[in-house]
Amino acid sequence: MDDGLQKLEMFYEGKAKKLYSTPDPDLVIAHFKDDATAFNAKKRGTIEDKGVINNRMSELFFGILEKAGVKTHFVRRLNDRDMLCKRLEIVPVETVVRNIVAGSMAKRLGREEGEELKWPIVEYYYKSDPLDDPLIYAEHALLFGWATEAELRTIHELALKVNEVLRRFLDERGVILVDFKLEFGRHKGEILLGDEICPDTCRFWDKATRTKLDKDRFRRDLGDVEGAYQEMLRRVEG
Ligand code: UDP
Repeated sequence: MDDGLQKLEMFYEGKAKKLYSTPDPDLVIAHFKDDATAFNAKKRGTIEDKGVINNRMSELFFGILEKAGVKTHFVRRLNDRDMLCKRLEIVPVETVVRNIVAGSMAKRLGREEGEELKWPIVEYYYKSDPLDDPLIYAEHALLFGWATEAELRTIHELALKVNEVLRRFLDERGVILVDFKLEFGRHKGEILLGDEICPDTCRFWDKATRTKLDKDRFRRDLGDVEGAYQEMLRRVEG
């Protein structure tokens, strides 16, 4: 591997990625898998070449965001499935931004999927598999010491900024950014955007036809999952 960077020990294996330490304690390598899960891993499968697509798409999105002033963990893509990242101490809160009602919001509040929100909403979920990632208030994160007030302010601000930047970028490519999930972490005292940004973590609808171009095709057995991921990458690559 270049720069003498090599995978040392796998220290984490998630549903979609494996994380490896490197000789540099500040850097990790994320390896993107094809495994797909939904409904807190109650549904499992694989999406061919998903890892390759998500790695490349995340590289492009992180690049756009860095240019717009959003600090991320992204260092560079090493190969088809590996990404070099800054090591983060993950904040155990998932941040969801929504522009249009879909998924759990439609279900929880009895709203029609596709309803446009008057302004984007930022929601927080506690990252906990045994609890199924429950919806929380920001105040829970403060009370239980998951993040400080300053960190939550930064996370809120960055989440809206990411939404603005990606929404405009995707709109120009005929894609509606319906909603998405972000994860943040601390690196040398600073909050950085982490994880990945891809059809696993976002809802993308074609602007003209409202066709789903994201993981809902897998979650809801809509067919042509691979085709949707490939089409999204084509749109993002431009
Ligand atoms: N999401 C995610 N990981 C999760 C839960 C949600 O990446 O563990 C993303 C999901 O792809 C969607 C957004 O966050 O873009 C909002 O998801 P929602 O709360 O509607 O939950 P879902 O319907 O996916 O269960």
